[in-house]
Amino acid sequence: MCVYIQRAAQETYPSSGFRQAMTNKTPAYGARAAKASLAPMTIERRDPRPHDVEIEILYCGICHSDVHKVNDDWGNTHFPVVPGHEIVGRVVSRGGSASRFRKGDLVGVGCIVDSCRECPECRAGHEMFCEKGVTFTFDSLERDKHTWTSGGYSTQIVVDERYVVRVPKGLDPARAAPLLCAGITTYSPLRQFGCKRGDQVAVVGLGGLGHMAVKFAASMGADVSVLSGSRGKEKDAARLGAKRFVATKEPGALEALEGTFDLIVDTVSAPHNLNNQLTLLRNFGTLVLVGLPPAATPLDAGVLVHGNKRLAGSNIGGIPETQEMLDYCGKHEVVADIEVIKASGINDAYARMERGDVRYRFVIDGASFGA
Ligand code: NAP
Ligand code: ZN
Ligand code: ZN
Repeated sequence: MCVYIQRAAQETYPSSGFRQAMTNKTPAYGARAAKASLAPMTIERRDPRPHDVEIEILYCGICHSDVHKVNDDWGNTHFPVVPGHEIVGRVVSRGGSASRFRKGDLVGVGCIVDSCRECPECRAGHEMFCEKGVTFTFDSLERDKHTWTSGGYSTQIVVDERYVVRVPKGLDPARAAPLLCAGITTYSPLRQFGCKRGDQVAVVGLGGLGHMAVKFAASMGADVSVLSGSRGKEKDAARLGAKRFVATKEPGALEALEGTFDLIVDTVSAPHNLNNQLTLLRNFGTLVLVGLPPAATPLDAGVLVHGNKRLAGSNIGGIPETQEMLDYCGKHEVVADIEVIKASGINDAYARMERGDVRYRFVIDGASFGA
């Protein structure tokens, strides 16, 4: 989840009497143990509290973080787990004090469903770094530090309206769902590192995040190169907006690109050689990691030092930037390329993602969870 590294609770949420009423039985899909197949299960959603909205889930994207979590790749999954943090749905009801959305509104929920709201990070809109511990959409503790969250592989979800975003008119709901994680996770670093017209930008790994990075960088006017392990994605890369395609495993492919890029966005989900990628940067260029492979990678200080190169990371994005990204997508007509599947197809989709065979996001039809 983005992500993934949740701080230990330093403090309990100040409000007492916050224990949730868990009453609404909701069809879902989840895993009962590490690496287990996902199977139908029933979860309970709370009754809407005053500031909550209840959302009927229309679509939920499958992020590779869902796969990492089910595999317990990061060693911190609490089972059973119901993944899913790329949610688009319709508001079906709201609590008495909720005012931002009305019944029928098309809304999104991404990786974050709560945080302390008071610390400097929350006030700055960086809720993922909440100093009192963010509550992620799934496999995370609610503010009561007791209740585990369940994600979007389900028919409905109840979320405080502060953490709900508006999906602009004109965006296809299924194709907008992946924007809630893959979209914000790639939009944010491109903004942070000042991607602009004429920049040489490389995207490593053409999957869910990678294809969004290509679309965003191209829409910002950059000259985009795709670095992929699969020659089979070459035509798609051009269609998505890339000017150059590099099959990284072909002999000499990387050497020819040394010193080329202002910015490299690395979305690869498996361990790989970062030193080779750093050599592809121009002096003062930046390699930003968004992929979260389960194992560490050696780093050669020399390749960073010679040329003042920068190595950075970027973790999803906060709620205000997620809304900004969605509004940008509405204006520039940016949406994901998807394969819509039924819930019964989740395990096949996971297997394909583990092989890098994704074009370019699986999105689950919300109506199929209870079917
Ligand atoms: P994805 O759709 O499965 O795409 C990953 C891509 O990595 C593949 O399509 C493939 O592209 C490449 N790849 C290279 N070696 C691979 C291997 N051995 N196995 C599988 N893929 C390989 O994944 P995603 O949803 O884009 O997520 C990518 C990574 O970002 C994951 O580690 C995920 O946990 C992480 N993530 C981080 C954040 C954050 O906040 N930083 C947010 C969301 C996800 P080619 O075929 O082109 O080589
Ligand atoms: Zn994600
Ligand atoms: Zn906070």
